[in-house]
Amino acid sequence: MSRPAAERRADLVALYHQARGCTLCPLSQTRTQVVFGNGNADADLMFVGEAPGFNEDAQGIPFVGRAGRLLDELLAEQGLDRTQVFTANVIKCRPPDNRDPQPEEIEACRPYLERQIELIEPRVICTLGNFATKLLTASPRGITQVHGVAQEHELAGRSVSVYPIFHPAAALRTPRVKEQLREDLARLPALLAAARAPSTLQAVPGAGPQQQAEDDQMGLFGS
Ligand code: URA
Repeated sequence: MSRPAAERRADLVALYHQARGCTLCPLSQTRTQVVFGNGNADADLMFVGEAPGFNEDAQGIPFVGRAGRLLDELLAEQGLDRTQVFTANVIKCRPPDNRDPQPEEIEACRPYLERQIELIEPRVICTLGNFATKLLTASPRGITQVHGVAQEHELAGRSVSVYPIFHPAAALRTPRVKEQLREDLARLPALLAAARAPSTLQAVPGAGPQQQAEDDQMGLFGS
C-alpha cells in the first residue's frame, strides 16, 4: 500500500540531507558536492544515469551539461520535461576525470538509489546507458542488446517497468545512437500511459493527480 505523497517527500528530503554528508566511499574526498537528484518527488517516471560529471559536480544538479541538454531537447519532442520526472544517477558523486564508476562505489551508493525508488514510487524507470541498466535489471546484458524494450522488475518492493535507453553522452558522440535514442524516447509516452492505466482505474474521483504532481516538484534538491 502506497504511503501519502507528502510523507514520502519528507523522507526524501531527509535522505537528501543524509546523502549530502556521505563518506561511504572515497569519492567523498574528491567531489565538490553530492548530486542527489532532482525533479518531482512523486513522479511516475524516473531517469537514472551513470554519475555526475564536471558541470553536475559544480552545480549539484544531475544532467545539466551537454548530455543533459540533449536529453531535455529529446524529451521536449515527446512533450515531456524534467520537472515532471525525477532524475538521479547510479552514483551520487563525480568520479575523478569522469572515469567509470567502480563496483565498490556502486555498491556503497546503491542504498541511496534503492531508497529513492522506494520513496518516489515510479511506475517507469528509464535507465540511461550501461551502468544504470545493468544495476537495475540485475543482468550483465548491455544497452546495445536491451535498449528500447521495457522489462518488468521488482524494485524496492514494487513492480516497475525498467526501460533501458542509450546514454545521451553516447548519442552526442554518434549520430546513429542519437537517432536510436530519439526513437526509443518516442515510445516513452505510451509506456507511461500503459503503466499508469491500472491505478487510474482505481483513482479516487477528484483527487487531482496532475495538481498533486505539480505541487510536489522538487527543484529544491539542486540548490
Ligand atoms: N551523465 C550522467 O550519467 N549523469 C549526469 O548527471 C550527467 C552526465
